[in-house]
Amino acid sequence: MVNADQSAYRGRFAPTPSGPLHFGSLVAAAGSYLEAKSRGGEWRLRIDDLDPPRVVPGATESILRCLEAFGFHWDGPVQYQSRRLPAYHAALHRLRQLGFVYPCACTRKQIARSALPDGEEQAYPGTCRDALPLGRAGRSLRLNVRGMHVAFDDRLLGRQYRDLEREAGDFILYRADRVYAFHLASAVDDGELGMTEVVRGADLLESSARQAQLMHLLALPVPRYVHLPIAVDQRGKKLSKQTKAAPIDAERPLISLQAVWCFLNQAPSDELPGATVSDFWHYAIKRWDLQRVDPRPRSPVPD
Ligand SMILES: [Zn+2]
Repeated sequence: MVNADQSAYRGRFAPTPSGPLHFGSLVAAAGSYLEAKSRGGEWRLRIDDLDPPRVVPGATESILRCLEAFGFHWDGPVQYQSRRLPAYHAALHRLRQLGFVYPCACTRKQIARSALPDGEEQAYPGTCRDALPLGRAGRSLRLNVRGMHVAFDDRLLGRQYRDLEREAGDFILYRADRVYAFHLASAVDDGELGMTEVVRGADLLESSARQAQLMHLLALPVPRYVHLPIAVDQRGKKLSKQTKAAPIDAERPLISLQAVWCFLNQAPSDELPGATVSDFWHYAIKRWDLQRVDPRPRSPVPD
């Protein structure tokens, strides 16, 4: 039986099937799972498979098998973004009706020319905002963020404020290769599917600002956020599928789960050595304390 309190919390994990899970994705999976389960809530699984160039054949199956090996139990059916295109289409249509969308003719190369020298991502300079350059056709669709500010709550970092015009610029909603952009799809899914809290890596903090703004514009409920620390190597470089610095081993899930527990700064325990995966979750769900998490980037390998 589910009482009102238990059905109130809904969280999710949303991997992109571009390869096997790495340490950072396991942190996001475990952090969102522990938050949901320690509060008697639901934990949904969504596969962000919208981006054909990034989707690797077989990766979805391997992610699902890996999550099972690590003892995760998701609620409800797995959701696939590739099957939600009508919802993204409707949201884009709504934003166009509201007058927030314009076509952009710029190529990636043209925008890169105006980028900052240190490789920082530059806000779109607004070339096509008022009109397409003469003789050029629209390739993508952008959100006009003129004058937009957004505020959202993060339970580790506190209330966040962003000046979107200055800090994000007009971002893409529909790409030149006819793919709905990540921000649009994520905002529609998290909002329409009633997520009350989104727990994920701090590398997505600026994405959360854009997505929260889209949810506001679409009159969707905005979840609360938790941005977990990013896993970096000992030189401070972000761990990713490319660096392969901390692969996770589905054959030995407990080792990785204990590393994640330690990475999230949770209370060490004598009960854990020799335990099974299900012992681990039983223990961890009971002892999980979000407020112990240190949001600063850190290395999963102790110094
Ligand atoms: Zn443009």
